[in-house]
Amino acid sequence: MTGESLREETCDVVVVGTGPGGGMASFGAAAGGAKTIVIDKKSVVGAPVRCAEGLGLLTLGELGIEPQRNWALADIRGFRLFSPSGRKLDLAIRPKDLRLIVLDRVAFEQHLIDRALKEGAKLRLEEPATGLLREDGKVVGIRTTKRAIRAKVIIGADGIESRVGTWAGLHTALKLRDHAACAQYTLDGLDDLDHEWLEVRFGQRIAPRGYAWVFPKGASSANVGVMVSNAEHPAKHYADSFIAERTPQGRPTNFTVGCIPLVKPMADAVIENVMLVGDAAHMVNSATGGGIPNAMMTGFLAGKVAAEYVTKGLPLSHLKTYNPLWQERVKGILEDKYRSKEIMWDDQRLERAFRKARPLQYLLPIAPRYFIKMLIRETNF
Ligand SMILES: Cc1cc2nc3c(=O)[nH]c(=O)nc-3n(C[C@H](O)[C@H](O)[C@H](O)COP(=O)(O)OP(=O)(O)OC[C@H]3O[C@@H](n4cnc5c(N)ncnc54)[C@H](O)[C@@H]3O)c2cc1C
Repeated sequence: MTGESLREETCDVVVVGTGPGGGMASFGAAAGGAKTIVIDKKSVVGAPVRCAEGLGLLTLGELGIEPQRNWALADIRGFRLFSPSGRKLDLAIRPKDLRLIVLDRVAFEQHLIDRALKEGAKLRLEEPATGLLREDGKVVGIRTTKRAIRAKVIIGADGIESRVGTWAGLHTALKLRDHAACAQYTLDGLDDLDHEWLEVRFGQRIAPRGYAWVFPKGASSANVGVMVSNAEHPAKHYADSFIAERTPQGRPTNFTVGCIPLVKPMADAVIENVMLVGDAAHMVNSATGGGIPNAMMTGFLAGKVAAEYVTKGLPLSHLKTYNPLWQERVKGILEDKYRSKEIMWDDQRLERAFRKARPLQYLLPIAPRYFIKMLIRETNF
């Protein structure tokens, strides 16, 4: 069945999603020589933004991506952390090339997609994937609202709301308690902002089982929000209270809500000719909620493996080689983060960690492993 009245298109690799995972998957596949189509239900790549837009430079460097002026907005020295009682700890990041930036995420995602298009990938927007195409029990592509796309490999880069994995038979459903809920405002008029630090505030009062943030986007603008889990009130309630206390002078220019999976990554992200990357495979740092680097890295690896499979005529089992590749790169880090997330749920443990860490605040390389493990291992924020 290929969709009776739908137009048909054929390619080697179809990627569902134009986020950081899909951008890198379509780049990896197209650069590897595969005829690639990347689709998204959105009408504009990257918009609307559901992100605090913090990113470490390490992954960009590893993937050979030069920060560009139009999307690398703020050059960050490190994290400015506050304990539940208000104790401050600056964790400066050294060396400089492991530092963080704050993104213009729309321009960033467009940059990633442009790189894929330059390698020959084709982009289809306003096209939600609605299911898999199957023939004789085998997956032969995807169906969108506009067409049937026949493909040898399907890469699900469709984020936390992923359906591609479920359609293919992978267990991707998350329990409600395994989600963090986020609410964030972008605020202008923050003239007293220290724009060289990512401010992070802990405490069950401010953000139950999560944290609150102020991520500067420029001299007087910032993303200000909270991540909470299993909280009594919706995330917006905590974001509004935090802003009333911390940045009451701010003028909102944007508001967003979103969810983050707080689970270990899936054990197996490949089923037959369907591969999952990034949030779709729960490849998120459970301690910080950061998922852009993992989505980019796993997207690139999946795209590369998919291209090898189609261009070299390798057996279907070759797609499974993606599993050890992504596991070697991100699984250990993410499982570590998963174990350490509960530190943030306990104000007393946090206070103890802050007390221990204080004298070492400017020497990140020898700061207590406690904090490094908890927040910025390999700056994989
Ligand atoms: C409020 C908030 C703040 C965050 N802040 C940070 C941060 O500062 N740093 C960080 O590293 N991470 C952050 N994250 C997490 C980060 O945004 C995600 O981990 C990252 O976007 C995952 O990338 P992805 O490509 O896997 O999925 P996504 O970026 O979610 O992309 C999925 C894409 O698939 C498309 N799609 C979904 N379903 C379909 C369909 N059926 N058909 C077609 N297209 C479809 C979507 O439209 C979307 O474009 C934050 C998340 C939230 C909610």
